[in-house]
This record gives sequence, C-alpha cells and structure tokens, in this order.
Amino acid sequence: MTLTRLGRLDDGAKPLELAQIAAPIPAPGQVRVKVAVCGVCHTELDEIEGRTPPSSLPRVLGHQVVGRIDQTGPGMSAAWIGRRVGVAWIFHACGRCKYCTSGRENLCAEFRATGRDVDGGYAEFMTVAADFVHPIPDGIDDLSAAPLLCAGAIGHRSIQRTELVDGQTLGLTGFGSSAHLVMYETRHRFPHSQVFVFARDEAERAFARELGASWTGAIDEPAPVKLDAIIDTTPAWTPVVESLAHLAQGGRLVINAIRKEDTDRRALDRLDFAAHLWLEKEVVSVANVTRQDVRDFLQLAAEIPIRPRVETFALEDANAALAALRWRGSRGSTVLRVATS
Ligand SMILES: [Zn+2]
Ligand SMILES: [Zn+2]
Repeated sequence: MTLTRLGRLDDGAKPLELAQIAAPIPAPGQVRVKVAVCGVCHTELDEIEGRTPPSSLPRVLGHQVVGRIDQTGPGMSAAWIGRRVGVAWIFHACGRCKYCTSGRENLCAEFRATGRDVDGGYAEFMTVAADFVHPIPDGIDDLSAAPLLCAGAIGHRSIQRTELVDGQTLGLTGFGSSAHLVMYETRHRFPHSQVFVFARDEAERAFARELGASWTGAIDEPAPVKLDAIIDTTPAWTPVVESLAHLAQGGRLVINAIRKEDTDRRALDRLDFAAHLWLEKEVVSVANVTRQDVRDFLQLAAEIPIRPRVETFALEDANAALAALRWRGSRGSTVLRVATS
C-alpha cells in the first residue's frame, strides 16, 4: 500500500493505493524481512497530512513491522535467515555523533525513520540494516508484538522521562494504543501509584478503568488530587494547558507526540504563568526511540507479560484502518495482517 500524495484525511479519503512494486533486494549489511503484520500508528496520519512528511514519494508507510528474515545482503551469515524480528521507527542513526555515543541515538541529526524516510511495513517485504532489527521474544505472537515496537517502546520512553517513583500519582491524557500499554507497564512497575486518565469519550474512559485507572474524566475536569507526572499522548494543545493546571508543584508533563495539530492552538492563549508553570513545573517532550528502548520494552513485555488489545485489518484495508484511527478513536492498538505464516 503506497502513499503517492499528501493531503487532508477527510472523511472517506483513501490516501493509500494498492500497488505492485518490486520486492527489495538487501544491500551489504542489510536483511530482508518478509512481513507478517504491521502496526498502524497515529504518526502515519501526521505523515499523510504533511506534519512530518515522507522524504520522497511514493512511500510505503509503517514502522511497527514484524516478520521473518528471508534474505541477507552479500557476505552475511546464513544464520540470519528465518529469524523472527521486529523493525521499529528507528531505521538508522549515524553511530558516531555525540548523541549516538551517549545513548541518545534518538536525537541523532542523521536519524532516519522507517516508513517515512525509507519504505516500511505496509508491504510484503522490506529491507533494513541487520543492526536495526529486534529479536521478538518467544511467547509474544506477531499481532501482540507489532504495537510494542512503537506505541509500547515510546510509551516506555515516556515513563522513563516522567522519573516517576512508586507511590507517586500519574495522569494520562488520551487513551489510545500507547497509553493503554503505558497503563500495563505502570501497574507492573509502580504498583502503589494511582493512574488518572483524561480522555474525550466514555468508551475510552471505560477501557481505562477496565485496565486499572483509579479515576477517569474529561480533559478539563480536575482529578481528585494534583498529579506528580502526566503523559500526554494526544495530538492537541488543550490537554497540554489543562495538564499543566493538573500538575502538583514540582510535577512534570511529558509530551509523547511527534507533532501537534493546529486545530485548537488558541488554547495556548490561556497559558498563565502562575497557574500552569510556576512552582517548578516542567514540560519535556519525547522524540523517537533508541534501539535500547525497543529491546528493553520487548523484554519487559515478555516478562510482565503485556498483551496489547489489538484490532486487525487486512493490508488492503489499510485506508479503513487509518480512517478508524482518525475518526473513531481507538480501543487499544490497530494492526494490519500482511501475510499468514
Ligand atoms: Zn509510531
Ligand atoms: Zn548520530
């Protein structure tokens, strides 16, 4: 399924087209992955609508790719063949700069993203450097593994960025794919922490309570207590402003979003220093993921264990999957079935 032009995802839009393209051939150092499933991420909407556009078109989107290696580049060990692996958003980082050499390859200036800067997993095959594939632990099936690669890994990075300690209160704004995985991880790692979920529709709030939220409400509703940390997974500005009001003194807001949409930008006019920022409140963002984030989270997910709530679509129905994500909100994670193994 290829993206050939950018544009607004209006109701009924079909941005992706089914196309026959040549199967890629792995270059030296690369492997080819025969794709089994590929997760659908909100970032695909940002790519299609041009907020973080592909480096060139046509492009095959998709950065939560699970499959088996079926070919290797020249001169590589045959031991790679048949391995079940995942490919995440991080497709390449230089390995030499001050960020790469200090565990922050997510900030590398040469960072290239799967499915944005190179073709990704909305296809039967993709090629990637062997250094950038991640072994999928046994016991995690393909469909469960896909959302762990982005929604889960970036959720994990967001939790790290909160610097939460057990017993502190955590808020989540929005309750989609990433937030529901954050909930599983938080309940496991911080059993004495209460989680407060702010979400727009009642179905999302009910899902959050089912997974262990202590309290749920609308974004502008005050939680019963001030919160030590909040992770914002929404594409909007209102939750940023409201979250700052919900924070306790010294609290930290972690914005887990690659881009914000402009629809409610005016909400920023309400930003008031005393109410939203004073008392040493902090705002930090989360950018991309490192390979270590992905591998740590896969390991954690296998141990806990985490099984994402998954809704599946056939690869050819990728437009319907994107429309569902855009217009209906999500109940967990969305995954495309590419091939049956
Ligand atoms: Zn993603
Ligand atoms: Zn670098």
